[in-house]
Amino acid sequence: MDLSTLPVVDQHAHSLLTAEAAARLPLAAALTEATDPRQVEHTRHSLTYRRSVSLLAGLLSCEDREDTVLRCRRSLDWTELTRRCLTDANLQLILMDDGFPADESLPLEWHRQFVPVRRILRLERLAEDILAASRTFSDFHTRLTAALDNPPPDVCAFKSIAAYRGGLDFQTASAAGTAACFEGIRSDVTAGRRVRLVHQPLIHFAIELALSAALRHGFPLQFHTGLGDTDLDLRLANPLHLRPLLEDRRWADVPIVILHAGWPFCREAAYLAAVYPQVYVDFGLVVPLLSRAGMRSALRRLLELAPATKILFSSDAHSVPELYWLGARLGRETVAAVLEESVHQKELLPSAAEELAVAILRDNAHRLYRL
Ligand SMILES: [Zn+2]
Repeated sequence: MDLSTLPVVDQHAHSLLTAEAAARLPLAAALTEATDPRQVEHTRHSLTYRRSVSLLAGLLSCEDREDTVLRCRRSLDWTELTRRCLTDANLQLILMDDGFPADESLPLEWHRQFVPVRRILRLERLAEDILAASRTFSDFHTRLTAALDNPPPDVCAFKSIAAYRGGLDFQTASAAGTAACFEGIRSDVTAGRRVRLVHQPLIHFAIELALSAALRHGFPLQFHTGLGDTDLDLRLANPLHLRPLLEDRRWADVPIVILHAGWPFCREAAYLAAVYPQVYVDFGLVVPLLSRAGMRSALRRLLELAPATKILFSSDAHSVPELYWLGARLGRETVAAVLEESVHQKELLPSAAEELAVAILRDNAHRLYRL
């Protein structure tokens, strides 16, 4: 199956850094979830890094040696390197959460010189911005509701990083409990100190407001699940924790997108996508961050149970453009390899395998986000 000419929709990715900030980020640091510099040296010996360097040697038409590839990418102007990566990636559209990286990233508009971009609104970042401008809980409530009701016109989804802010086992809180939680941080807010939103009642409150706005707009809500940097407790990033939300009839019509295949909870993610009509699962970050065997195994686990119409491609690229290119290249390769196995196993006809590949890489996102 040759998917190399198929334009794909990257349904979850992030902004690139400015050239100055990117110059301080080693390529190996972009290819790991580790944030401790001591770990980056080890990352250079991961299968992911070795493979990425080899693939990039092909893109940059240089010798397949780490020092040569690093020199070659540094010799290119940042805009030129980005253009090369994004053009060759053959992306039809990127859905971009521009709330990360938080500092020194390029504006969303800059990315549009290379490829069409729609925006994903990062809930916790929005809530923190509004918190900084709110004086009372009712003020916070009113402002956040208004922001979610009137998002910028290019927004097509909301996203929550609750997994990074205490975990996905968020507890419901009464209105009084949520207001009391706000009072607890009010002295920081009024003193002009930016508050990092890690308070479960407020996060749950913001998620419920986002769900009700998503219902009105017809927007999906993406959840970070599974692997991430050490800022999250992986045990609490298991998508099974979303059950109370998925069982709540009020939100049964809000599409929920489980990001990163929930890795390593891929089967749990597949199960949810198989039994809840509103649940979808994406395999970004798994592609391009795992070994080839790992990427295929993750997609196989999703397909063990989840219908192909519930599976979505993304790269979760951020900071450097090579991640977009590697994601698109390895996403196509992984989808082709896994679906070809199903053809050999006589589960799919070759024509059906091609149809499902197009669905996973492009058409499911069109339907889900009404693109
Ligand atoms: Zn992401």
